[in-house]
Amino acid sequence: MTDFIALIPAAGSGSRVGERAPKQYLPLAGRMMIYHALRTLCRVTRITEVCVVLAPEDSEWVQHDWSEFAGKIQTFPCGGATRAESVTNGLKALMAAGQATEEDWILVHDAARPGLSINLTERLLDELAEDEVGGLLAIPLADTLKRATSQARVARTESREGLWQAQTPQMFRAGLLLSALEQAPADITDDASAIEALGLSPKLVLGDAYNFKVTYPQDLALAELILRERMTE
Ligand code: C5P
Repeated sequence: MTDFIALIPAAGSGSRVGERAPKQYLPLAGRMMIYHALRTLCRVTRITEVCVVLAPEDSEWVQHDWSEFAGKIQTFPCGGATRAESVTNGLKALMAAGQATEEDWILVHDAARPGLSINLTERLLDELAEDEVGGLLAIPLADTLKRATSQARVARTESREGLWQAQTPQMFRAGLLLSALEQAPADITDDASAIEALGLSPKLVLGDAYNFKVTYPQDLALAELILRERMTE
């Protein structure tokens, strides 16, 4: 039987959000940002384990009480210089420890997407569990797209036809994902890109707008509104 294992790369510095603390540790709805994704993933019964990849120099994690998730979460202090490196190192650590086989499904989820819901995660599992390649949550683009000049004027309008915004979790088998990441170009920003570089075509599973990535300071206020409500569930 193949397991479903979640892997959260949480070794980023979060400079774009404009805070000095790494963004996964920023306060959000009475907790830290990373708490919310952890809570969701730990409550999905089919997910047997949730691994958090921390920066080797991380001194924040151990200062908090994670006993609520005991038995389901584990940390690996092997984060790298890029997200892809953090995921690669985490996968290697998991496999070296005998906790994941090549065939197990890995759901890579960004700590900075606190709005992931249990239902959305279940949808991803349902749609991909029998898939040959794996895939990711994503939403069709809603806005009109403008290509800018270097002076921030409109050069032209781009067609949004067939364009989707990638979200996470992104779900692939451990062996395939590791080999894809090891061969991937250095500038990839998600896991699916590494799989695509092998000539494979990940499946797009409809995500939702609540699962946005907290990137800029104003995103925090929006996430706070959503999560205050969710925490009462
Ligand atoms: O910075 P960005 O929002 O793209 O980061 C996405 C996710 O990747 C975050 O959860 C962040 O902590 C993680 N990351 C990482 N190692 C890095 C850079 C980012 O684990 N070197």
